[in-house]
Amino acid sequence: MKPSALPAFMATALLLACQPSNPVPVEYLAIKGATLFDGTGAIRPNSIIVIREGRIESVGGPELPIPEGAEMLDLSGKFITPGLVDAHVHFGQTGFFDGRPDALDIRDTLDYAELQSYLQLHPERYYEAYLRSGVTAVYDVGGYPWTLGLQAAAENNLNAPHVAAAGPLLTPVPDENLTAINTPAQKQLLNLKSPEFGREAVRQNSSLGSKGIKIWGLDLNNAAFMESLRAVAEEVERQQNTLIVHATDLDQAKEALRLGARVLVHSVDDKLVDDEFIALAKQARAVYCPTLVVVRGYLNAYKALQSDFVLADPNRAVDSGTRNLLQSAGLFYKYMPNPDGYTDMLTRMEASLSAMDSVMATNLKRVYEAGIPIAVSTDAGNPGTLHGISIYDEMEAMQRAGIPAAEILVMGTKIGAQTMGRGDDFGTLEAGKMADLVILEQDPTQDIAHMRSITHVMRGGRLRLVNQPFATTTNPE
Ligand SMILES: [Zn+2]
Repeated sequence: MKPSALPAFMATALLLACQPSNPVPVEYLAIKGATLFDGTGAIRPNSIIVIREGRIESVGGPELPIPEGAEMLDLSGKFITPGLVDAHVHFGQTGFFDGRPDALDIRDTLDYAELQSYLQLHPERYYEAYLRSGVTAVYDVGGYPWTLGLQAAAENNLNAPHVAAAGPLLTPVPDENLTAINTPAQKQLLNLKSPEFGREAVRQNSSLGSKGIKIWGLDLNNAAFMESLRAVAEEVERQQNTLIVHATDLDQAKEALRLGARVLVHSVDDKLVDDEFIALAKQARAVYCPTLVVVRGYLNAYKALQSDFVLADPNRAVDSGTRNLLQSAGLFYKYMPNPDGYTDMLTRMEASLSAMDSVMATNLKRVYEAGIPIAVSTDAGNPGTLHGISIYDEMEAMQRAGIPAAEILVMGTKIGAQTMGRGDDFGTLEAGKMADLVILEQDPTQDIAHMRSITHVMRGGRLRLVNQPFATTTNPE
């Protein structure tokens, strides 16, 4: 049924009911009365936002005229933010160990190559988890070549978040140590073996449309690797691509910035950042992605092998496959290489995590106070860090580190969109941008945990209730 065939009052009624099996996009809609946070840091109480054919036509206060012919939706007492952006995810990982055999090898039960074939064919498994968590755009910062294809497919699919993807990663790790996280058919991690190999990889990824070239670890004492890395950095510049670096050590992160890294996908977690780091980050115009919760996610996933995984997911946004795996995690305890040392391992992890959390929190505050752009980023897909809902944990950890909730909201919307190269399209609620937004019951600038009070998400003008599953059979876009 075409939406234009519906009488106006019926379209609104359907929109409010948000029939999950066949949601009706209203082509011309005015939402009034909500307190609107537009993603720039501005607040509009008693707002009006007019949405036409998937884009924002105008935003203003109560004086803004409501155009004739627009449906009206009164959201007085509610809150609106732009759709959230997760600037660090991996579609080739599941949130459990089946996607990370290097962390716990359960391949005898769940075949890894088969998993990758499945994920390639069924990215909707996570699309819905993202949208129903209020995340309308994600940056996959490293994965199999097939992840590059998600960009175009997701863009025109209102059941998916926008996707930017970097594709295969370059690393100093030798090929023989990468067999567990590559498949025989496709590689996501490539050993950077020579300058020419690196340049060719950059050219190839760029020609396939990669949004970023990701380096997984630096080996500062390996002169040959560093020479290859310099060649990669030059080629990234030549291809007008973006250098993305995983470097959690201060010395590595500094070297990455000297080479022109534009995105640091993790916190510095071994030492406190210093003036030199801040100066280098400013010079490189780099974005800092804290990923505060991912390591704790691993701990939680290991714990789940012997006790229940705590899933804070009242809307059941997490896909059923992941949910089932986590709930049956005990079946995989037998794969622990050293079961006798299991409890000790958890204790050691907990202790080192506490120290690391403290360093990461201090560094985040310092980076924030220095005015370096920060994007909300989870590293979702790693064991225990679930696609979609983990963004709430991450934002709450940022708040505990001392970042004001109103600032986290900007980091999780505007800055994230800019990081993935889409700042002109979404990330803020301004005239001309795509109509991607979230409706909340509670004010997220009072406490960022209020993002959990989400009731609806809109992607490209299509509004849905987040506590209802999407249709599995229809995909009208
Ligand atoms: Zn990652």
